[in-house]
Amino acid sequence: MAAPLQCLSQRLVNWARIKSPWITLFNSGACNACDIEIIACLMPRFDIERFGILAKGSPRHADILIVTGHVTLKQASRLRRVWEQIPEPRYVIAMGACGASAGAFHGLYHVMERVEDVIPVDVYAAGCPPRPDEIINAVVTCLNLLKEDQVHGGKEWRQRRVREIMEPMERKAGI
Ligand code: SF4
Repeated sequence: MAAPLQCLSQRLVNWARIKSPWITLFNSGACNACDIEIIACLMPRFDIERFGILAKGSPRHADILIVTGHVTLKQASRLRRVWEQIPEPRYVIAMGACGASAGAFHGLYHVMERVEDVIPVDVYAAGCPPRPDEIINAVVTCLNLLKEDQVHGGKEWRQRRVREIMEPMERKAGI
């Protein structure tokens, strides 16, 4: 009896998550343009709250972490700590060229190559900086991933699937 009840409660929580995802932001060394675009999302012109998306200060209350900027060596451990504080299932959006490859800061002595070197990234928002509609699209993509993961019983199935696709290709390439 306990399992179906737990399952039902989990389904209810996930339903609430999909209807109203809470996001939190982490500036890991951005030039601030990405942050300004996120602020634009929160303002009346784009008004993401009309979709139920709320910005929260505490990672403990968040479902989605948005990381802006390249990751400096100083910020790497702090970013990891913030990510660890977000309850599962947590999703991460890396903003812009900096999130994917450190962008204009690539190769500098004090930066990591990409956000993925510190925490797992689920969605990349393209641009430098990404436009507000790109940010909204990234959040919607996270919600679609959450729905998909729910059906498969968790996030692990996606990692398994990537391995299943990559391993034959790597064998073929002799890696
Ligand atoms: S992606 Fe572009 S706009 Fe965003 S932090 Fe990096 S340099 Fe700035």
